[in-house]
Amino acid sequence: MRSEINIKIRPKPSNKTKIIFQDACNTEDLNAKFGVSLTNEENDIRHYLLSQTPILGRIPAVNEIHGNFQHLSEDTFRKIINRLDDVDAIHLNESKTMIEAAYPFSGLKTDHLIKFKKDTFKKIYAMCAIDALGIPFMVNSDIEIQSKCFHCDDEVYIEVVNNEITSVKPKELVVWGHMEYSCCAATSLCNNINFFSSEQHFEEWEKRVGKKKGYILQIQEAFHLGKLFFENRLKI
Ligand SMILES: [Zn+2]
Repeated sequence: MRSEINIKIRPKPSNKTKIIFQDACNTEDLNAKFGVSLTNEENDIRHYLLSQTPILGRIPAVNEIHGNFQHLSEDTFRKIINRLDDVDAIHLNESKTMIEAAYPFSGLKTDHLIKFKKDTFKKIYAMCAIDALGIPFMVNSDIEIQSKCFHCDDEVYIEVVNNEITSVKPKELVVWGHMEYSCCAATSLCNNINFFSSEQHFEEWEKRVGKKKGYILQIQEAFHLGKLFFENRLKI
């Protein structure tokens, strides 16, 4: 599926993206998520996780990861996994046995399916609309995003080539940038950062569910946030 028009949308910062990113800096441990404040061992495992996920088309299982880091004792390995969970670089399930999220990737089905234009990568779900838009910057691959309007379920399609959006459907697509942080991104923010066919569909949805705190983002603004949150994740 392709839209007719030839477009090139680049990430575009704005006042809204500044406020949202600043808010994330205040509420999340971005230094840890970007690896800056993590130990080498913690970063090795974080890298392994994020780079293996698109290859496997799923987030690797905890013992599968340990199998690749056999020099680490069970205890040390467990501490690292728990630390990555504590800083919200990953999100473990309640029994702490499975990695449900390794941002930007989701181990569970979401509305946002990512298809890579790279033979060695399999499709995977993204946690939210902004995470989906950040993936090409992190893994250096062209992608297609298949999603839907959170209000009416209408099909959403985005193609990213060379870190530019080359196709977007529908044309009036916006992203709701939600800002009510509670515990970890997986349980509070991500479920609420979604695509809407148009500003009007967002407004209709908000009328139904009640006023929310956040911003309506144009696609180029959400794209910019995706870039900010993910382009440096695998650099440290
Ligand atoms: Zn809609």
